[in-house]
Amino acid sequence: MEKIQNLINGNLIDPIKRKFLDNRTPRTGEVYSKIPDSDEEDVALAVSAAKEAFPIWSNYSIDKRSEILTRLSQLIEDNLEALALAESKDNGKPVSLASKVDIPRAVSNFHFYGTAIKHFASESHSMGNLALNYTLREPIGIAGCISPWNLPLYLFSWKIAPALAAGNCVIAKPSEVTPMTAYLMSKLVKEAGFPDGVLNIIHGTGPKVGQAIVEHPDIPIISFTGGTATGAAISKIAAPMFKKLSLELGGKNPNIIFDDCDFEKAVNTTVKSSFANQGQICLCGSRVFIQEKIYEKFKEAFVRKTKELIVGDPQDSKTNLGAVVSESHMRKILSYMFLAEKDGGTILAGGKQVKLEGELAGGYYLQPTIIEGLAYDCKINQEEIFGPVVTITPFKTEEDVLMMANSTKYGLSATVWTENLKRAHNISKALHAGIVWVNTWLLRDLRTPFGGVKGSGVGREGGFEALHFFTEPKNVCIKLS
Ligand code: NAD
Repeated sequence: MEKIQNLINGNLIDPIKRKFLDNRTPRTGEVYSKIPDSDEEDVALAVSAAKEAFPIWSNYSIDKRSEILTRLSQLIEDNLEALALAESKDNGKPVSLASKVDIPRAVSNFHFYGTAIKHFASESHSMGNLALNYTLREPIGIAGCISPWNLPLYLFSWKIAPALAAGNCVIAKPSEVTPMTAYLMSKLVKEAGFPDGVLNIIHGTGPKVGQAIVEHPDIPIISFTGGTATGAAISKIAAPMFKKLSLELGGKNPNIIFDDCDFEKAVNTTVKSSFANQGQICLCGSRVFIQEKIYEKFKEAFVRKTKELIVGDPQDSKTNLGAVVSESHMRKILSYMFLAEKDGGTILAGGKQVKLEGELAGGYYLQPTIIEGLAYDCKINQEEIFGPVVTITPFKTEEDVLMMANSTKYGLSATVWTENLKRAHNISKALHAGIVWVNTWLLRDLRTPFGGVKGSGVGREGGFEALHFFTEPKNVCIKLS
């Protein structure tokens, strides 16, 4: 059985207390690897390594840092197939998705920031003959990067890459639910050319390792992606220490379908935006609002296409939905499905666990589920379920749908389907969301700001936003006359 190790000061090592946790594959429910159950002692060891490495790394030329990041990108690409299979086994997602989306995106993240840093510049503000201001953007020191389980290597690398590109050292913690690809990547770090101690990867639980990172006085900057409640707990610790914080949190995204939409595209993309990665993407649209005139027609097509989706072995290329990430998460999602009818809803598709056969019998499989007839403000329509469950709700006017769409505590993303340009602009402006897609979904340009409003987070990732976050601006004012 594979034993995962921490990467500290360039070495793969066991946790100091030599305690390990079980790692299960959602595909079969079986334990297939061991994860370090690290704690604050391991974090302290990594911090001392990172402290020593910081003067070296932050003084490397931009070209040298860029070269090392792009080499890591290349190494991930060289190992794409093995990493995709590992991601699928660890997370339950179809291997086809991991090899088309997750791992290629990790490749892009390191390549993007390896090159972005070469184009990153700071400002100057001339006061004519009186003075010149210029702004230095300096690396901060040791960055703590904490990531979730739904897009494991994809989101882990999305934080680490800009932090390193900007000249910081990193203490990173992947989710204990899906640690494998971060571990496999840690085996490539030396070969990429990183000096020891620049990138440290510590495995373990949130309350032990995550919290120790957030509490450590020598880690002044925290980039976190995960649940809203965890984000709030982290803020409580970090705010009085005046740490710089980026929080990418939960969502309950509306998907708004007007009667003038391109019908086929809207239905087909809605199937994807509802159920890709078993609905476990923070950007999935879990509340589908359909304008009255096309409600019945859309409902029929959406339900029919959803029933055609294949729930099955994540390793089978025909599978559309693999397993959800863990047994406890499956039980949580099922509890919302059971609530649907109690709350006056009707389940139009799905609503049940899927029992597969043979070695997959112990896996965590769920039917893609569509519910109608629920009030916009009921629990299912307000809380993040983070699984293959969506509701459909009819609406009459723009005002009606905006009120419902904006009614949750979240504000991550939204999707709008309309051929009316004026309406597209107006609705996009009025939606409480950090990201709005019009007539598409999950079309990403890594240069754009990424993040949410309200309970979906604070700060933005992506493009130069992340490089701004991972650097400290210092203005220098030179008197000229
Ligand atoms: P989670 O909050 O339980 O865990 C996220 C990470 O934080 C894990 O590594 C975990 O070990 C760690 N953690 C847990 N408790 C901690 C603590 N007290 N201190 C420090 N670290 C701690 O989230 P999850 O269940 O892994 O992920 C699902 C959530 O992530 C969903 O809410 C989803 O919407 C959100 N998410 C958001 C985005 C985004 O970009 N906004 C992207 C992906 C996922």
